[in-house]
Amino acid sequence: MARVFNFAAGPSMLPESVLNRAAAEMLDYKGSGQSVMEMSHRSKVYDEIIVGAEKLFRELLNVPDNYKILFYQGGASLQFAGIPMNLLSGSGKADYVLTGQFATKAYEEAKKYGDIKAVGSSKDKTFSYIPELDKADFTPDADYFYICMNNTIFGTRWHELPDTGDVPLVADVSSCFLSEPMDVSKFGLIYGGAQKNVAPAGLTIVIVRDDLIGKAKAFTPTVMDYKVMADNDSMYNTPPCYSIYMCKLMLEWIKNLGGLEAIQLRNQKKAQILYDYLDSGSMFSNPVVPKDRSMMNVTFVAPTEELNAKFVKDAAAAGFVNLKGHRSVGGMRASIYNAMPIEGVEKLVEFMKEFEANN
Ligand SMILES: *Cc1c(COP(=O)(O)O)cnc(C)c1O
Repeated sequence: MARVFNFAAGPSMLPESVLNRAAAEMLDYKGSGQSVMEMSHRSKVYDEIIVGAEKLFRELLNVPDNYKILFYQGGASLQFAGIPMNLLSGSGKADYVLTGQFATKAYEEAKKYGDIKAVGSSKDKTFSYIPELDKADFTPDADYFYICMNNTIFGTRWHELPDTGDVPLVADVSSCFLSEPMDVSKFGLIYGGAQKNVAPAGLTIVIVRDDLIGKAKAFTPTVMDYKVMADNDSMYNTPPCYSIYMCKLMLEWIKNLGGLEAIQLRNQKKAQILYDYLDSGSMFSNPVVPKDRSMMNVTFVAPTEELNAKFVKDAAAAGFVNLKGHRSVGGMRASIYNAMPIEGVEKLVEFMKEFEANN
């Protein structure tokens, strides 16, 4: 069996050891005589899985006690609506920074529920940088301030957080969850779909500070109300059982590697190998402002559309798949999430050097 190096932006690779463990536990999970997919979410054996996943998440990310961890279905996109429904409870105002397509979608969705202001945007240059902000533009009585921490499609990230004072900072961390240590106490809420760094698709994790829970708008669907979800330990209705189980296996894998400090070193190394090559070679270049570069999604372009297309095709034939950039930007993108081994990036760079020499 030949496994490929999958550079997809999501769903993405999972570590082979995690997949092997899931396979070994598939037919008879710990003597229960059934797979995790088949068991009741109210059973004792499943309870250990969901409670264990939450506990490990809290431990690895160092989540303070006054934050709840909620396991949702519906993807990050459902939270584009869930966040304003739950948090626009005071002035009804919020500030958003438009750093890419997902931030813009979140902004457009929030506009259905309140008075939403864009206080910065990098759309003028195809979202290739993180905009400078002027605090004078911030809404002083905003209910929250929203950013997308890592911009999956465009390959940028926030390296420094905006200073929002007492206004709770909310961040979409879908494409950088658990890729490095993070000070959760700087945020009112962080959330992300799991299918990039943490688990297969189907699970969305919301980490929210206690004082922001319990103020949902009256029309909020019951399952979308963070208080209902928190009071029911993410089991108001059926949770995405199997994704949560896979998430737990991923968390154990990260812990065994040495936790988030260790995974950060590994992720930094992978990104460095790629950016160093992009900065030194003559065929490919990275279109992002260097200080705003993402550690997870590395975008690059060849000089012509023909070469871009040929590269994507030749790379796939050589076992490096899903390198085509998002349809809105073109070129290439290598997503190098937690599960991508260093070897995968080293081999990709070797392949790029060969391609450069032959074309
Ligand atoms: C993938 C992604 C989303 C969308 O996630 P879904 O789970 O498909 O809704 C939102 N934000 C970011 C930053 C992403 O990378």
